[in-house]
Amino acid sequence: MKNTKFQTLTGMHDILPEDQRYFDKIYEVVSEIADFYDFEKIETPILEDVDLFNKGTGQSTDIVKKEMYSFRTKGGDFIALRPEFTPSIARAYIQHGMNNRPQPLKLWAFGPCFRYERPQAGRYRQFWQFDFEIFGEKNPVVDAQIAQISYNILKELKIKNLVIEVNSIGDNQCKPYYKKLLGNYLRNRNTSLCSDCRIRAKENVLRFLDCKEEKCQPVKAQAPQILDHLCDECKAHFKSFLEFLDETEIPYNLNPYLVRGLDYYTRTVFEIFSSEDEKENIPKIALGGGGRYDNLVKFFGGKDTPACGVAVGVERIVELMKKQDIKFSKKKEVEVFLTQLGDLAKRKSLKLLEEFRKANIKVSESFGRDSLKAQLSRANKIEAKFTLIVGQKEALDGKVIIRDMKTGNQYSVSLENAVKEVKKRLK
Ligand SMILES: [Zn+2]
Ligand SMILES: [Zn+2]
Repeated sequence: MKNTKFQTLTGMHDILPEDQRYFDKIYEVVSEIADFYDFEKIETPILEDVDLFNKGTGQSTDIVKKEMYSFRTKGGDFIALRPEFTPSIARAYIQHGMNNRPQPLKLWAFGPCFRYERPQAGRYRQFWQFDFEIFGEKNPVVDAQIAQISYNILKELKIKNLVIEVNSIGDNQCKPYYKKLLGNYLRNRNTSLCSDCRIRAKENVLRFLDCKEEKCQPVKAQAPQILDHLCDECKAHFKSFLEFLDETEIPYNLNPYLVRGLDYYTRTVFEIFSSEDEKENIPKIALGGGGRYDNLVKFFGGKDTPACGVAVGVERIVELMKKQDIKFSKKKEVEVFLTQLGDLAKRKSLKLLEEFRKANIKVSESFGRDSLKAQLSRANKIEAKFTLIVGQKEALDGKVIIRDMKTGNQYSVSLENAVKEVKKRLK
């Protein structure tokens, strides 16, 4: 057998310590804002029945058709690694009878999702998302609030040039009519479409609207627009949503071609971007998106429940935080370094370390080292304010030396009083 060097799977990536602090920061901001807006956290399994996404996300979507990580288990079940959160959370909402709790029910999640995409820069097969969902409220104020929450999180993370693109794709009353209209329009222009859109024209006609192919752009410019064909209720809902957005002062643009590609959306859809920054040479980056999905819960066999949600990609945010050179405060600094010499001192130091932990004073050590010189140079390197020295003699006498690293002054105190004495000097 040849000597194999194991590597991450194609499209998978490790989150190394230097990136972990970005993830931690994002999690911290997301959870604080979730708490402020009264969202409760939910965690659903990464694995689900493949049909949850076939039915929920939709058979004709790219996610299900091309990108789903699905396989058969030893027991013969056909399962999938979740490509997104919404179907899983809707499933949980129904399964646990959460419609019996006070509505609207607000849930949030943070975790990895999976898509079997062609690997390319900034796209991963395992990527992280945070997700917000509100169940049981049909008022458009909720749509605006969901958009506002994702915007506020990114703003709080100091992401620059944020803008939201919004559209309405209608409901069961007006969407089918518009799809027929668009389908007829495309049928007469079949030869002017790209190969993907020729298929979309039959299977998922709305997806034509977000086609990026050069060839389709002239056809798109002339195509009937959904906003001109909304029913009265959808029109009123969208108008009201925009009025709420105006109140929040979130910068937004109307994008009549925005459809979000997933089957379950009704009425409001939006995407959140960091717009192109020519000066810094940063392209327009899509961070996430969401919208309303009033039919999904019922479609899954639950009660008729309006709902609205948003999902944002964590790796995209990290990428932007780096590109935009966003700094944030570091972790709590190490204030004390603990050095020791000899076996008895090591044992005493282990115990002493725990006392500092209980007192919430951050202490670093290198118990594996025996040379006092090497330990002191480490203490200097991390710029500890105080170094504690438990030598062989101190260990026998039940003492510890506190050295002020700035002045070089040293004090001998009893082990029992070490925490108290350090606390006093840290003030
Ligand atoms: Zn096309
Ligand atoms: Zn409608």
